[in-house]
Amino acid sequence: MKRAKHVRRGNSGKVVSILTILLLFALFSATCFPLSHALQKVDSPSLSTLAGQVAIEGALSAKPKIVVESAPVVKTTPQKQALPNDPYPLLYTEKISPKEDDSNEKIAYLTFDDGPSDLTIPLLDVLDRYQVKATFFLVGKTGEEDRKAMREIVKRGHAIAVHSYSHDYREIYASVDAYLADFAKMHDLILKETGVDTPLYRFAGGSINSYNRDTAKAIIEEMNRRGYTYFDWNVDSGDATRGTTAQQIYQHAVNDSKQFRRPVILFHNTGTKKMTLEQIPAIIEALQKEGYRFDVLKADTPPVRFRIPETA
Ligand SMILES: [Zn+2]
Repeated sequence: MKRAKHVRRGNSGKVVSILTILLLFALFSATCFPLSHALQKVDSPSLSTLAGQVAIEGALSAKPKIVVESAPVVKTTPQKQALPNDPYPLLYTEKISPKEDDSNEKIAYLTFDDGPSDLTIPLLDVLDRYQVKATFFLVGKTGEEDRKAMREIVKRGHAIAVHSYSHDYREIYASVDAYLADFAKMHDLILKETGVDTPLYRFAGGSINSYNRDTAKAIIEEMNRRGYTYFDWNVDSGDATRGTTAQQIYQHAVNDSKQFRRPVILFHNTGTKKMTLEQIPAIIEALQKEGYRFDVLKADTPPVRFRIPETA
């Protein structure tokens, strides 16, 4: 009250000045409003473009926040799907629909996660011996030998794909932004090292795991919007389970595969998976005997994915 009286009594000139400034400010805001409104719209990308394979409900609240920092350049030509303010405007690929799965042909897909490692080249040598092609879901290893192994995977005709750069579940599944940042880094490494702009990926721990209960749907939705195709597996060799014996790896891979016309078999290719490497010849021979041929996963391969729980 005291201050108001003071203003009215002695400073009417000042009041006029303040009012003028306020008026100018209001005019300025009105002029700028359409711009700020447009920017707000840009910050809320529509995530309604979903792939037909995955039913996603209730995930639209988890809109990705746009962070414009540390965006790796992964391609030379921007894709038309990119939204303004997209932190990864080049991280798009053409969405490919899966092929009709109408043949009775038995095809096995050997998939190796968590490489490259010291055991990558020895594994490639084994696969060469059988002229079998496999799919490698890679992590962020940047040593000279690891880079060479990545190039060899491609040179010898195998499929190369993103697994995760850090493979740190807590970090990558914290949010859509966190997942994208990790994915972009790995995608970029593969592209720079091998020249392959891979459309394929596999989630660390699988698409549904105990670390991404709150974020899986939103992450999948965003990755679908960007056109990328992920694969889980329907046969687990068990080679990542503590205490698994060589015999068990063989039995899981062979016996469980027989239940599927198109088994997608999970193996690992870290430096400690020597037992896996040693079982691969016998596994290949057993599956060939069962009438399977081997192929690499492609963007149009009929998907093998975990079901997203209704309540996730
Ligand atoms: Zn993994």
